[in-house]
Amino acid sequence: MSKKDKELFIDIGVGLLLGTSIIVALFFNKEVLSLFNSENKTESTIEVVLEKNTINKTKFGFDIKKYFFEEGRVKPNEILGSILYWEDVPYSKIEDLVQKAKNVFNVKQIRANKKITFVRKDSCGDLQSLIYEPNDLSYIVFNIADSVYVKKEFRPVETKVEFATGEVHTSLWNSMKDNDLSISLIDKMEDALSSEVDFYHAKKGDQYKLLFERKYIDGKPIAIGRLLGAYYYNTAPKFAFFYESKDYQGYYNYQGQATKKAFLRAPVRFSRISSRFSNRRFHPILHRIKAHYGTDYAAPYGTPILAVAAGTIARKGYGKGNGNFITIRHDKTYTTTYLHMQRFGKGIKKGVHVTQGQVIGYVGSTGLATGPHVCFRMKKNGVPINHLKENFPSPEPLPDSALTKFYVARDSILELMKSLDYLSDTTNHQSFVIYKKIDSATVKP
Ligand SMILES: [Zn+2]
Repeated sequence: MSKKDKELFIDIGVGLLLGTSIIVALFFNKEVLSLFNSENKTESTIEVVLEKNTINKTKFGFDIKKYFFEEGRVKPNEILGSILYWEDVPYSKIEDLVQKAKNVFNVKQIRANKKITFVRKDSCGDLQSLIYEPNDLSYIVFNIADSVYVKKEFRPVETKVEFATGEVHTSLWNSMKDNDLSISLIDKMEDALSSEVDFYHAKKGDQYKLLFERKYIDGKPIAIGRLLGAYYYNTAPKFAFFYESKDYQGYYNYQGQATKKAFLRAPVRFSRISSRFSNRRFHPILHRIKAHYGTDYAAPYGTPILAVAAGTIARKGYGKGNGNFITIRHDKTYTTTYLHMQRFGKGIKKGVHVTQGQVIGYVGSTGLATGPHVCFRMKKNGVPINHLKENFPSPEPLPDSALTKFYVARDSILELMKSLDYLSDTTNHQSFVIYKKIDSATVKP
């Protein structure tokens, strides 16, 4: 990251430090586990399974005791045919494989430097199978011995629930650098608590505790999943609990009121406000005093631009001054407009419904712009307003009929967080605890 980007991060003023990310495997006693027995399970309740010491018995579907695996990388200019030719695979079989690959994987997409594995029955035996790995999520099996076939497999993704505690010491940038933590976790916390905590005024000594999912492939972390519970102490303790049922999904506080704002504060993550809303300002290109009915967010080219709230695309177009732009109608009252986009998001066109946080385009400098930024405009009943000064209507609370189930889910998350907090404090303050798996799913790219 460049020095300038670093300054952008520091500018945000949100200082979070997740302490040292010590990974501790904990074995739970019965009392802790009994807090989450199956009787009080609702849609949101977490199922606790003790972490087992699982050792993989197969690799790419082959028994590791019966097969030998030789790993390598595709060399420049190598193609499937040449790789197999040097393995003494008869030409007829190569042709058969190429035919059979047609509906599974385009063999012309085999790229230099990607991982390949030769599978054999003994260390210098004939090739049983060739495995090609186009990415971390999937692999292609070209089977040669016994029967000729080609198949694409997705690696199982393991989801673990983890717990992290931290204290604000310094800038977000420093905490990311020091702790190798995903920005998306902090994003999720800020989102979940957006109507409860003003993160622009986070201060030294603020504390937080997060219960969240992390996805793993072969023991390697690949992504942050859902944030299940968040606690933040600034001037008073604030909570956000993730709750999901047939009719409701979202973050709610202890009482069951939604904790996520109806509008995101900014359409770009970790951006810097380069020009504020004003009725008079000096225009840098037109060189005259002109009102600025928007807020400019500077961010690198290509940074995703997010819909600040759900709505329908009312306009999509190109203007000489505005460049590529989009207007979203959110409800009867509010619209938002995003200018100077480099390009539009996938599937974005007039009349399409977008969800909050959906990528609608990418930061650029099309139209009259000195550098990459989004000029973000909000109108209330057709009149431009400064969205940073607007008091938006509070999100809807859960109805009484849904509260009983919510309380059960809330209490299970809270109890879990309390137990983990206790355990992590006694083992190592600000520790990072991996304690269980809940399911395993398959992520398809
Ligand atoms: Zn602007």
